[in-house]
Amino acid sequence: MGHDEDDDQTTVLRTDAAPGATPGGEAAARRDRAVRAAVEQGVVGPAAPVAGLLDVTGIRASAAALHAAFEAVVPPGTPVLHAFAVKATPLVPVLRLLRAAGIGAEVASPGELALARAAGMPPSATVLDSPAKTPAELREALALGIAVNADNPQELDRIDAMTRSAPTGSPVGIRVNPQIGGGAIGALSTATATSKFGVPLRDEDAREWVVRAFLDRPWLTRLHAHSGSQGMPLEMMVRGVAATYELAEEINERAGRRQVDTVDIGGGLPVNFGSDDETPTHAQYARRLKSRVPGLLDGRYGIVTEFGRSLLAKHGTVLARVEYAKRAGGRPIAVTHAGVQVATRTVYAPASWPLRIAAFDAKGLPKSGPAVGQDIAGPACFAGDLLAENRPMPLLEPGDYVTALDTGAYYFAQHYSYNSLAGPGVYGFSAPTAADGVRFAVVREPQTPDEIVAEAGGGAERDALRNL
Ligand SMILES: *Cc1c(COP(=O)(O)O)cnc(C)c1O
Repeated sequence: MGHDEDDDQTTVLRTDAAPGATPGGEAAARRDRAVRAAVEQGVVGPAAPVAGLLDVTGIRASAAALHAAFEAVVPPGTPVLHAFAVKATPLVPVLRLLRAAGIGAEVASPGELALARAAGMPPSATVLDSPAKTPAELREALALGIAVNADNPQELDRIDAMTRSAPTGSPVGIRVNPQIGGGAIGALSTATATSKFGVPLRDEDAREWVVRAFLDRPWLTRLHAHSGSQGMPLEMMVRGVAATYELAEEINERAGRRQVDTVDIGGGLPVNFGSDDETPTHAQYARRLKSRVPGLLDGRYGIVTEFGRSLLAKHGTVLARVEYAKRAGGRPIAVTHAGVQVATRTVYAPASWPLRIAAFDAKGLPKSGPAVGQDIAGPACFAGDLLAENRPMPLLEPGDYVTALDTGAYYFAQHYSYNSLAGPGVYGFSAPTAADGVRFAVVREPQTPDEIVAEAGGGAERDALRNL
């Protein structure tokens, strides 16, 4: 075992590269080129003061690295589906890019399923996992042949009734909660004793209920656990997978056949928000699984993964213009166009979700100068709308730019319309080498005031209340 195996990850900002990490120097260079090109080409400017940028080269590289990580630990021919958790970056062009790279989709709502279908994700590469599936959702998934993981006994009853009246080609499994405990961020810990997800394996009689559910239903073939997420030490994730594997073995032994043929290990690999290095890597996680849960990866089981943040976070950047630079109580404050609408988690829970912020001048070149503690404020009308507080960096001036790094998952793609702030434009960029010019593609147009009005009942509903 290499000592890369012992690098458990926290969300604290950190700058040291762990052994075995994938160094991020090239990604940082691509990003800097893209920032400069975005300013030069007018992707951002006075009229478009905030945008989300996605590094297409980086996304492709992460998809390839994920495939390689698991190919290295299973025998050739073992079925492995990497289903990207759509909630992390719910953008159709991103899903299509991932599909072209051999990645599927994990969906948890009718909207996410519609996005996956719009992206051309085939049912065989799609997994439905929500904790609150309606009968209509279940019926649709079973009719399409999409893999479904039942969250609880009541849902399994519904699936029973549906499969009796209309046979399905969907692989069906049960989601279990190994109850291995939480990570550093309570709201993102899915495997605590009282988590709302799945069947809690350590509760009285629950394990026996799961085994019986399989023995009574020959068509149940999968187990699913997602013991994440950000803030979860790798070792605990491995324990969750190990517990799920042991349950699969127990079911198969009592069934006297290989009834559970696939284990869905979920996602939840934490991301390093402290530097450009990718750590832990999917390869480190796969190797650790191989050493701790070898039976799972010996070819007897198909594997499904559901990574979200670890595939996309490092490849997204919020780029925002500094509108004003002021001082209050002696503290310099840069008032930018990036705040709660694009970095909701960071603004509401700054201790759990610190982001790196980089400073650029009005031409989009990295800004230099002595580091001065500054607040990086957003445009929303509440005092806490800050991306960073008292952060040392070169003193910002009006017309400069800031970037919020590692925001490719769970940030600008899910903008939050506080103050009716527009959803920012999202642009993919390709700049594989310094010699190539940077090319941008629109992933999502910036939201217009008309669209905001329409979304706010400004169309046919305009007089709805007056006429009541
Ligand atoms: C959110 C979620 C994921 C993805 O989690 P990440 O931390 O983004 O990898 C995977 N599976 C399920 C069931 C989820 O709810």
